[in-house]
Amino acid sequence: MIDLHSHTNKSDGTDSPRELVNKAISKGVSLLGLTDHDTTSGWQEAVQSLRGSISLALGSEISCLTTDGISVHMLGLLFDGQNKEMQIMLEETRDGRLPRMRKMIEKMRAAGIDISMQDIEAVLPIGATLGRPHLADALVNKGVIKSRDEAFQGMLNNDSVFYVSHAAPTPEEAIRMIRKAGGVAVIAHPFASLRGQILGAKDFAALVEAGLQGIEVDHRDQNSDERAMLRVIAKELDLVITGASDYHGSGKLNSLGESTTAPDQWEKLESLADQRRVVGV
Ligand code: AMP
Ligand code: ZN
Ligand code: FE
Ligand code: FE
Repeated sequence: MIDLHSHTNKSDGTDSPRELVNKAISKGVSLLGLTDHDTTSGWQEAVQSLRGSISLALGSEISCLTTDGISVHMLGLLFDGQNKEMQIMLEETRDGRLPRMRKMIEKMRAAGIDISMQDIEAVLPIGATLGRPHLADALVNKGVIKSRDEAFQGMLNNDSVFYVSHAAPTPEEAIRMIRKAGGVAVIAHPFASLRGQILGAKDFAALVEAGLQGIEVDHRDQNSDERAMLRVIAKELDLVITGASDYHGSGKLNSLGESTTAPDQWEKLESLADQRRVVGV
């Protein structure tokens, strides 16, 4: 079972990389993509936790912003984690998430909600990429809301008055960086319309031009019509089709292996990296 998209407490997941690997093993995942938001800091622990026959496709889910201000997530897999320019790009995005959080908190305080940066610090795991799910956790602790899920259906949604974007590369810049670092670029849940504004079908050609190699089609946030449209686009543009759980631990309903990638699609995707970088025991 191939699941190419998951998160740990190095970003907004709730499991440590070791816990994630252990759970993936017990779920029967044979190849796990480790894709924390804008960081590779979980790679080492995940690799050290390997046992048995599970393998890792190390990567990151890179937060991007189009010039029109649309939020896009780009999965980079199998890139060189030592690549300096890549690490600088990821670090710049992480840095931009702090002022963004301050702005969101200011907006909430102006609306009379009792929340502060201290409340965020209390829930943020050491070294984790700061994100809205941490703000949701802080709001849960304050009794403002009941769960992360409730937060994303209302006050933390992309269309909410409290939403603020953060500095991020464009999808094209992220794709070029992934490719330069030897990896493969797969756009994550491009038609997940529940989250807010999304790309249109016509936007994919420019991404392919920049080096896009795959589309995440099977993902719980995309309904069957959206998946069907993406399959057509993937076929037209000769892109690899992936499926994945986008597992976040107990912070989200997604369970490991709930959506998967077909072996032949993975074989094609892996062959596009500049060298063999799947890690096994
Ligand atoms: P940010 O990167 O700070 O803009 O936060 C976006 C993250 O929130 C995404 O990576 C999602 O994984 C997470 N998220 C989106 N919807 C939900 C939800 N309903 N429950 C929990 N987390 C969510
Ligand atoms: Zn996330
Ligand atoms: Fe995402
Ligand atoms: Fe994700």
